[in-house]
Amino acid sequence: MTSTIDPKTIGQPAKRHHKRSPTGYLPDKDKSGKEIWPRGDEKTWKDNLRGISNDVPKITKSIVNHVQTTLARQAYNLDDQGAYEAVALSVRDNLIVNWNDTQSFFTRKAPKRAYYLSLEWLMGRTLDNALLNLGLKEKYKTGVDKLGFNVENLIDEERDAGLGNGGLGRLAACYLDSSASQELPVWGYGLRYRYGIFQQLIGPDGSQLEAPDPWLQHLNAWEIPRFDVAYDVRFYGHAERVDNGKAVWSGGQEVVAIGYDVPIPGYHTRNTNNIRLWDAQPKRGFDLNSFNAGDYERAVDSSNSASNITSVLYPNDNHMVGKELRLKQQYFWSAASLADILRRFKNLEKPITEFPEHVAIQLNDTHPTLAIVELMRLLVDDEDLSWEKAWNIVTNTFFYTNHTVLPEALEKWPVPLLQHLLPRHMQIIFDINLFFLQAVEKKFPDDRDRLARMSLIQEGTPQYVRMANLACIGSRKVNGVAELHSHLVRTTILKDFVEFYGPSKFGNVTNGVTPRRWLDQCNPLLSALITDTLGIAKSKWLKDLDLLKGLIKHADDPVFQEKWRTVKQANKERLAHFVETTLGVKVNTKAMFDVQIKRIHEYKRQFLNLLGVVHRYLLLKSMKPEDRKDVNPRVVFFAGKAAPGYYMAKLVIRLIVNVARVINADKDTNKYLEMLFIPDYSVSVAEVLIPASDLSQHISTAGTEASGTSNMKFCLNGGLLLGTVDGANIEIAEEVGEENVFFFGHLTPQVEDVRHAHLYHPVPVEERSPALANVLNEISSGRFGPAPDFEPLLNTVRQHDYYLVSDDFDSYLAALELVDKAYKDKKGWVKKSIITSAKMGKFSSDRAILNYAEEYWNVEQYKLE
Ligand SMILES: *Cc1c(COP(=O)(O)O)cnc(C)c1O
Repeated sequence: MTSTIDPKTIGQPAKRHHKRSPTGYLPDKDKSGKEIWPRGDEKTWKDNLRGISNDVPKITKSIVNHVQTTLARQAYNLDDQGAYEAVALSVRDNLIVNWNDTQSFFTRKAPKRAYYLSLEWLMGRTLDNALLNLGLKEKYKTGVDKLGFNVENLIDEERDAGLGNGGLGRLAACYLDSSASQELPVWGYGLRYRYGIFQQLIGPDGSQLEAPDPWLQHLNAWEIPRFDVAYDVRFYGHAERVDNGKAVWSGGQEVVAIGYDVPIPGYHTRNTNNIRLWDAQPKRGFDLNSFNAGDYERAVDSSNSASNITSVLYPNDNHMVGKELRLKQQYFWSAASLADILRRFKNLEKPITEFPEHVAIQLNDTHPTLAIVELMRLLVDDEDLSWEKAWNIVTNTFFYTNHTVLPEALEKWPVPLLQHLLPRHMQIIFDINLFFLQAVEKKFPDDRDRLARMSLIQEGTPQYVRMANLACIGSRKVNGVAELHSHLVRTTILKDFVEFYGPSKFGNVTNGVTPRRWLDQCNPLLSALITDTLGIAKSKWLKDLDLLKGLIKHADDPVFQEKWRTVKQANKERLAHFVETTLGVKVNTKAMFDVQIKRIHEYKRQFLNLLGVVHRYLLLKSMKPEDRKDVNPRVVFFAGKAAPGYYMAKLVIRLIVNVARVINADKDTNKYLEMLFIPDYSVSVAEVLIPASDLSQHISTAGTEASGTSNMKFCLNGGLLLGTVDGANIEIAEEVGEENVFFFGHLTPQVEDVRHAHLYHPVPVEERSPALANVLNEISSGRFGPAPDFEPLLNTVRQHDYYLVSDDFDSYLAALELVDKAYKDKKGWVKKSIITSAKMGKFSSDRAILNYAEEYWNVEQYKLE
């Protein structure tokens, strides 16, 4: 061995270039307690500090300055992309001014902080959101106009930051917006994937194709690299137990985590929070052996393997895929985040036992569960704490949000893989398990089945580590994301743990969405109408969404109803324009817009919707032309990505596209029924579709959708909900009134019995639903494209039908009929739409984040001084 790495530095944070982190800076004080100016002439410094550019001349000056210097361009070679970049950079300057003030404010105050650990951040675009939150949209519009550009066009130049798959990643983004807006000291931690969620293309045969998403290939103004915020993270090697339960972990591979800060501006406050995303870089001087051997290529190779860690987001939603690189991502991110959190805590110079009084860490699903084990390692091996003291700190620091009860989505990692990648962590997990099972044994003697169920280790060859069990026992509290879901967590997957700990450890926080992005930004016309009607400032109701209730008293007013309808119509025209320019298809904007947009998953049952559309088409075909005139015309929109390895989900997309081709081309019926698959679903696509929907569908098999959040976005924008009695649909109905939603289908307690019956007393689909059998036969006949290719999908319904499509089909059709009837009553429909929107206050993510802050983290709101 000729390595020159100093063994004393093993496991230590990488050396930083500055004595103090730029984010934790506080001035020294003299004997009288007065702050000492750190360097140079204080007045010169202070005279040159800039504030917010909040008038048009300052804004245009800042934009032109960025064009001229940062971008090195000029007025005559500036295109929309360049102008977007200059505008973004000038907005970023404002965000950074506020960010700096916020961070020094909180460093001085030193309150308890919360950290939101999420492997996914589905941010979408930033420019429009930042302008609205800063209150600078109008001024930028004017300034940009003076420079010869249009601000909306520039907003459209931005690429989405697609660092997430779906609901879970978007929830994290909404929560940071709310924590900033509600002035809570919350930071997010994540990974800076160089490739976000893949771009979805539709091939000639209607199949989904996936292309990489190189979202960083243009300048990204919304991140601040922090090359001096760097931590070493170790993988592999060996762990040797020494005394006092401690161990020394050495050898293996070391990788450096570099922080990139993403400022998150609050709405109508200068408070600006932070998401720190880690980038993996090779450790300088790593693998000197290969340099010494002259094997340059191998050294470069190992460099590649380090940066691989943050190269790509895994594109699975609600499905566990046990790839080693994914586990590396999880540990890399957990370890870097904890090192950063611990470093910030240590700046407070408090005893380590007070850690939980200063830090709360929220785990967004089980992805960051290794952070629990990592904190144990740091406390026991590095901080010399006893196991009991360390465990006490850990279990008062972490909080775990469960996001699913679907068995295929529950994380479990093979013990041999963990042992190889993280030998010390595997030791700690075994120790945690030993002490835990001893305690269970004591409370429930002679109950071996219970021990086997609760063990962190699933026995077998290989053994697996059950991450939900680990997250549960390592956390102070556990929550689900809607009432029904939290109930299912308590009564199914964590039932034994409720019996062991008692019920108070297990709670519910129903998800929410930020009304800034999901109403004000995506639906400016409705936002303006609401402000006008309520007669209160927009900045007020957008931060206290219950104020929307003030609309109820206008719900019967014909003038207001007409304005409401006009806004919906304008949004439908905007969507039609989007469809025409992107797909080259004209749609009938007089028809009802019926929308189902979400990840494609069997449990979400896009297939049920599709079968309903085919049924409607067959019915239309069978009608006399003069009878069709009474039919409620409908355009059905689908959008959503399927995981690249999810065969059935991809087949659903292919069938949707093939059926759409047939029915859209049918001159007999296409005035009454059209169907569209909008490719490459994203936050930005959602922002166009949601305000335009008359009806949206959330039709998961009861008990499978934890919450859903797009249901909230639609209802907030006055789209009515057609859904099953599942997730947050239930609470939405409670709020807006059951008479304003369309419910159908079997209920959660019935689902297991029906599945059992499918297996043990199978009934042919012709008997379960003749209407459905007819639809399946028509597809099988080849009428909608290559029938043999679709047979495996059709058979899922004909055979065991795990998701109860056939059992819910007839009641689904009945619900659709009720929808048609209700829509014919134009006034009645508008009234439902107004009332729905008016009663959605509960579903603001402000309510949700304040709930976490109060009931879980014990973190307080602060007005920035
Ligand atoms: C809100 C949102 C989701 C979540 O949708 P659900 O219907 O709740 O699953 C997924 N993707 C994007 C882009 C979203 O904006």
